[in-house]
Order: sequence, then structure tokens, then C-alpha cells
Amino acid sequence: MGIKFDENCSNQNEGMVNPGESDKTSNPPEEDEIILKSGGDGFKISAPGQTGKIVKFTERALGKYQLEKFYKGLEQLGITCSETQMGQFLTFYEMLIEKNKVMNLTSITEWEDAVEKHFLDSLSLIKCMDLNKKIRVLDLGTGAGFPGIPLKIVFPELELVLVDSLNKRILFIKDVLEELQLDGITAVHGRAEDLAVKKEYREKFGLCVSRAVANLSALAEYCLPFVKIGGNFISYKSGEIEEEAAQAKKAISVLGGTVSKIEKFTLPGTDVSRAFIQIEKKKKTPKGYPRKAGTPSRHPIQ
Ligand code: SAH
Repeated sequence: MGIKFDENCSNQNEGMVNPGESDKTSNPPEEDEIILKSGGDGFKISAPGQTGKIVKFTERALGKYQLEKFYKGLEQLGITCSETQMGQFLTFYEMLIEKNKVMNLTSITEWEDAVEKHFLDSLSLIKCMDLNKKIRVLDLGTGAGFPGIPLKIVFPELELVLVDSLNKRILFIKDVLEELQLDGITAVHGRAEDLAVKKEYREKFGLCVSRAVANLSALAEYCLPFVKIGGNFISYKSGEIEEEAAQAKKAISVLGGTVSKIEKFTLPGTDVSRAFIQIEKKKKTPKGYPRKAGTPSRHPIQ
């Protein structure tokens, strides 16, 4: 099902209908297509079976947040977002901004920047793999919850463990998870080097993801030990990735992985170039890796 934002629709009360009433003036949309029109009080859905339904969360967002960019970006990624899910994004954003006043969580604070660089960027993972399934995912160095929380909001079947070495960030995330009433997601305080040697975490995940944490050699040592054979580690990187990938080749191979895909793309609605490096776990990670805390980043495997 696709979402279309109708740009020709003015921001007046024109076309607004009460929930449940149908809008007889618009052309019937194509099968399975949702058209969102900005109106005086929010967005109006035109879609088979739900024509005229008003998306209620916009009462809260109205005048405060522009949602067009978000919807367009989601559409480009082929993602649909329910009213509840959009509400969760708004709540997450508000909690992030509030906490950021007293704690260093993010330098990206404007709504539209957060939409692009946090929410849509996190969700872009859908370009690499099908996320609509039950799969155990570890987000290493999640910080304020990226990419893990947006992924969990949109793909509720994923079972997520969010890890960070800074406890105050984990405490913030725990508050967010409770507020958003998300299940099947936990936040764990610890360093990759310490957690990955524990039985309950070692080679127990179908997928490990990480964004903006370390260079690829160190990251491979943090992440590959968590991944079970046949699973993947996917690193979020900026577009220029070749050199970093070449330097990490040895580390990836020593740790039991092999690069299976490099997916380059432009962040929806921007000219920001991004890349995913997908590393498949082929063999068990040898004992002794990851090395003790601090070593992987100070002395990456070369
Ligand atoms: N992934 C988030 C945060 C990036 S900042 C985002 O993209 O916005 C990097 C985060 O990684 C920090 O919160 C830091 O505490 C955490 N981190 C760095 N090294 C780590 C390690 N070895 N184990 C666990 N977390 C680590």
C-alpha cells in the first residue's frame, strides 16, 4: 500500500470532512493507495474503505510539526505508518528534545532534521533487508535510540536489544520505551567488548546494526561476535565507504564475516549520501574476540 501526499491541496478547510463521512468531491484513488491531503485540522485519508477518515494525531501535530516530509520519505522507502506509530514518533521526538536540554543526546534538534537524519535514516535499513519478520536484532551503541527505536516502531515484529556503554542514555531509552509502550525491546547498559563474551549474547542475534559508533574494523570486532552463523551485521555509514571497507577486510575475515553487499543511497528528501555495508557471518568468531575494552578501537585488527 502506498501513501501519496496531495500537494495541490491548500491548507484551508477545503475538503475537510468529519470522520466516517465520505468525500464525494475527490477522484477515487487507485486500489490500495492512500492519499493524504493537508487540511485545516489535519490530514485526510482517501483510500478504499476509509475515505474521509481524519488522521487524528495531527490535532497534536498541527501548527507544530510539518509531516509532509516524513510521509514522503516513508513513501520513498515503501513504508506505511499508522496513526499510533506516527504518535510514537512525535512522543519520542518530544522526549528527545526535552532530555537533550539537560543531557547530551543529539546535535540534531529541529523537527525536520530529526525526521531526515534520525527517523528516515534509521528506517532506510529496509533497503537492505526484509524487516517484517521475527528476528533478534542488536543495536550496538544506540545512543539516544538510533536506529533501534524507529525500527521497532515501524517493524513491531523485530525483537530488539539496544546496547550502549553510557548508562544515562540507557536510562533515557528505558523511559522512552515505557512511554511508547513498546514490547519486545530492551535496553542494556554495557560495552560491546564485555557483553559479547557472555553466553546469553554471543552469537545469539540474526542481525546486528550500528550507526555512528566507530570505524569499520573496530565495529566488526564489536558486532560480529553477537551475530549467529548465517546472520548479518549491517553498518550505517556515509557514502564514501570504499577505503574504510578495504581497511576493515582483514578484521571482518578474522572475525568470521564476509562483505556481502554495499548499498549506496541518498537519504530521502536530501542530497545526503549514505551507505550500508552488509557483512554476513560465515564462521564462528574465534575465542579471544572481542579483545578487552578499548583495544578494538585503539588497535584495530589490520
Ligand atoms: N547510534 C546512535 C549513537 C551514536 S554515538 C546514533 O546514530 O545516533 C555512539 C554511541 O556509541 C555512544 O552513545 C557511545 O556511548 C556508544 N559506544 C561507543 N563505544 C561503545 C562500545 N564499545 N560499546 C557500547 N557502546 C559504545
